[in-house]
Amino acid sequence: MTQHAGPACPPVGVLALQGDVAEHIAALTAVGAAAVPVRRPEQLDEIGGLIIPGGESTTIWKLAVAFDLMEPVRKRIGAGLPAFGCCAGMIMLADRMVDGTGGQETFGGIDMTVRRNAFGRQVDSFESDIELRGIAGPPLRAVFIRAPWVERTGPGVEVLGMDAGTDRIVAVRQGPLLATAFHPELTPDVRLHQLFVDIVREQS
Ligand code: GLN
Repeated sequence: MTQHAGPACPPVGVLALQGDVAEHIAALTAVGAAAVPVRRPEQLDEIGGLIIPGGESTTIWKLAVAFDLMEPVRKRIGAGLPAFGCCAGMIMLADRMVDGTGGQETFGGIDMTVRRNAFGRQVDSFESDIELRGIAGPPLRAVFIRAPWVERTGPGVEVLGMDAGTDRIVAVRQGPLLATAFHPELTPDVRLHQLFVDIVREQS
C-alpha cells in the first residue's frame, strides 16, 4: 500500500556518491516523499533529511572527501538534520568504528561503536526477521550484506532491534538519527522509510 508523507514534508536527500541510491529514492517515493540525490554541499540546504545508503563505507568516505562533503554533512547532522544510515551508512553515522581501514573517517552523530564487516564477508550475507521498536505490524525481513553490528551504545541511543540469531544490536535511533545494519531498501517493506519521513516531518 502506498502511504503519504503529507504536504508538510520537505524533500529528503539521498547521499548519491556510491551504493543503493536508486533503491532508496524508490522507497521514499513509495511513502509519498520527494526524494533528491545529493552530491553537492549546497544541496544540503534544500533538504529536510538525508539517507546515507549502504555500499562500501571506505568508498563513501573517500568520495565524500573528494566532493567536499565531509565537513558540510557533519555540520548539518550536528545542527539537527535528520539522517538515516543503512549498513555502510550506519558506519558513516557512528561516532566510533572498529576495523576501519586506511584512516577511514565517519560523519558521526550517533553515540555508538560499530564493528565494520562484523558478520563476516560476502558469503556470510543473510536474511533474518527483526522485531523493531516503534514499527507496528509483523517483524521486518532484513537483508544483511557484509554488515556491521553495534558493539556499544551511549546513554542517549535507543536500541530499536536485535538480530535474534547473534543477539547483536542491528537498529538504533538517537533523536532524529536512525541507523540499521541491514538494507531496508532491498525489500518491498517501506515501514522504516515511513518512520524516517515521519521524523523528517516532525523536525521541519
Ligand atoms: N562492509 C561494508 C562497509 O564497510 C558495508 C556493506 C554494505 O553496505 N552492504 O562499508
